Amino acid sequence: MNQPDYIVVGAGSAGCILARRLAQEFGAVVIIVEAPCKAAPQIDHLRPARWLRLLKSSEDWDFTTSANPSLANRSLHWPRGRGIGGSSRINSMIWFPPTASDLEQLSTSTQNRWSAQRIRNAIHSLEQILQPEKPRWLSHTGKSFLKATETLSDCSPMTYRRLNHKGCRRSLEEVMLPRDERSATWRSNIQVVRGIVDQVCWNNQHAEGIQILTAKGTNQVMSKYGVILAAGSIGTPSILMRSGVGSPDDLDQHGISTRFNNSWVGRNLRDHLLMPVIYQCEKSLKPFSYDPDPRVVAQWQVMGTGPLSSNLAECGGLFLNDTIQLHVTPTHYLTFPKSTNSAWMSIGVNLTQPRSQGSLQLSSANPMDPPKIDADYLHCEEDLEQMIRGFE
Ligand SMILES: Cc1cc2nc3c(=O)[nH]c(=O)nc-3n(C[C@H](O)[C@H](O)[C@H](O)COP(=O)(O)OP(=O)(O)OC[C@H]3O[C@@H](n4cnc5c(N)ncnc54)[C@H](O)[C@@H]3O)c2cc1C
Repeated sequence: MNQPDYIVVGAGSAGCILARRLAQEFGAVVIIVEAPCKAAPQIDHLRPARWLRLLKSSEDWDFTTSANPSLANRSLHWPRGRGIGGSSRINSMIWFPPTASDLEQLSTSTQNRWSAQRIRNAIHSLEQILQPEKPRWLSHTGKSFLKATETLSDCSPMTYRRLNHKGCRRSLEEVMLPRDERSATWRSNIQVVRGIVDQVCWNNQHAEGIQILTAKGTNQVMSKYGVILAAGSIGTPSILMRSGVGSPDDLDQHGISTRFNNSWVGRNLRDHLLMPVIYQCEKSLKPFSYDPDPRVVAQWQVMGTGPLSSNLAECGGLFLNDTIQLHVTPTHYLTFPKSTNSAWMSIGVNLTQPRSQGSLQLSSANPMDPPKIDADYLHCEEDLEQMIRGFE
């Protein structure tokens, strides 16, 4: 391929959509760069409940936070997907459109360039492509939760739609980066390059190319019109900092000279902490299993229904003025998939609008070194109070 019009860094949820639109709708020549990974067994991608097996696999960047003072100094696993599809490759597949207050916040933060209606239209056109599916099976625990919450006020319990197709995980790679039907390769104007992007190559103020580490060594790729960073909430600020965009104090520590002084890069990091409440079910209920009997396997293979079509987080909903989301799973949240004789139900209590702000910093100028992620969970008193109300 000749010099591309654009380089998209990161083939995750956002990067795949950008590359598809640029290549298909605008006819642009696009190079999309994605970190290499060793693919997990296909069965872990096909069976929705197996997403847990993808965590800490070679498809997960497998980051860890620094010690959290409000969590008794524990460090938490911070998964991020790697390979085409990015985090959508390893996520729990819930399709949950933004609430009215999310839309309002998004509009305000873009000075109304993205009005609520414009965002709704964009989501609608994505839904035409991704076709999120209604659940094809619901566990006993999910049904019980929905029944128990149906008469509560200030809550909106629901079964989640998922990015599944006939009970199997939908691959963003296939949907968003459609292959040429005849040659089974990528469309002729999209090229996928596997490598780790170190930094942006600048021409004055213009991001013209990138420096990549590939199996063959370090090389540079230049574009005609520019580089689009879509490497996610950890990858994008890390690449920016290695490229000299950030706070001079942070960059100096690693011998990186500042090209653009911007102290917001790596700041205001917010993550929605989840804590499970776990219940043991009545003895008469059968435990949910990864490896069920052959009839259940056949039901899923032939009809795409039954327990194997479950994504575990089957249902839930927003509570307490949309500040808390509960996710319900038919498993013991902390020990699944270890086999057990009992059936379990876990309710994940999730803060939807955390106020505590953490930060992300480089640990070195080497792109192979993971950055320092300080989530600072529950630093704000209000977050702790919300979490306790969620538990109650
Ligand atoms: C375990 C888990 C479960 C989740 N469950 C849900 C859910 O059920 N529903 C939901 O809506 N959301 C869920 N999410 C969140 C959702 O998946 C993400 O918000 C979304 O995928 C982020 O998209 P993105 O394009 O910003 O980043 P990503 O999809 O993470 O894409 C970034 C891409 O950039 C690549 N990259 C990063 N740095 C470099 C580099 N230096 N060089 C080359 N490539 C690089 C990465 O490998 C990755 O492919 C979940 C996330 C996780 C991790």
